[in-house]
Formats: sequence, structure tokens, C-alpha cells
Amino acid sequence: MTAAPDAAARPSPCPAERFDLRKDIQFETTVTSARFNDESGRWLVAADRGDLVSARFLITAPGIRSTSGRRRPVRPHEER
Ligand SMILES: Cc1cc2nc3c(=O)[nH]c(=O)nc-3n(C[C@H](O)[C@H](O)[C@H](O)COP(=O)(O)OP(=O)(O)OC[C@H]3O[C@@H](n4cnc5c(N)ncnc54)[C@H](O)[C@@H]3O)c2cc1C
Repeated sequence: MTAAPDAAARPSPCPAERFDLRKDIQFETTVTSARFNDESGRWLVAADRGDLVSARFLITAPGIRSTSGRRRPVRPHEER
């Protein structure tokens, strides 16, 4: 019979830990606006805790039941 590997040596079943994502996650925060800046070619994302983040890519996943999903961000070169 093969001995079971040490629990500490086994990869974590939690994807956030396995891929070291916890440092990039912020809970209890609501995104309040997301606008694309044509000059910088970056998204400017604001949150209710005062954060203002500049990002090259924006991936939204507010869920189908969320009211945020109905207020989708303005995409590059899109008139509103
Ligand atoms: C009653 C019910 C039962 C279900 N049962 C099952 C089941 O048994 N099995 C199954 O596979 N699926 C089930 N589903 C479906 C499943 O829940 C969804 O398919 C899944 O949760 C979708 O995941 P998501 O990440 O797209 O959205 P969500 O799980 O809805 O996550 C979106 C998150 O974004 C957050 N968010 C929204 N707007 C903002 C904002 N502006 N700033 C920051 N955060 C924001 C929301 O608070 C939420 O936490 C069920 C759904 C419902 C409603």
C-alpha cells in the first residue's frame, strides 16, 4: 500500500490559494463606475470604498440577478 502524501505537501483544493489570488481579491467592495479612457487605453474603475484603479483589462461578473449587470460599462469607442 502507498502512503498518503503529507497534507502540507498536497496542493490546496481552494483555487484562490492554489493560484495565489488572495492578494488580488478585495471583499466588501462595490464597483460604482468603470470608464474606458481612450487616451491612456485603460479602464478607470471606482469603488464605494474610495478606491480608484487603472487597468488594461476589465472583466465584469456581476451575476444575472445583479442590477450592476444591467448598467454595463461603456466599452472603448462606444457612444453612450
Ligand atoms: C435560487 C438559486 C439557486 C441556484 N442553485 C444552483 C445550483 O444548485 N447549482 C448550480 O450550479 N447553480 C445554481 N444556481 C445558479 C448559480 O447561482 C449561478 O449560475 C452562479 O452563481 C453564477 O455565478 P456568477 O459568478 O456569474 O454570479 P454570482 O454568483 O451572482 O456572483 C456575482 C457577484 O458579483 C457581485 N457584484 C455585483 N455587482 C457588483 C459591483 N458593482 N461591484 C462589486 N461586486 C458586484 C455580487 O454581489 C455577487 O457576489 C442557482 C441560482 C439561484 C438564483
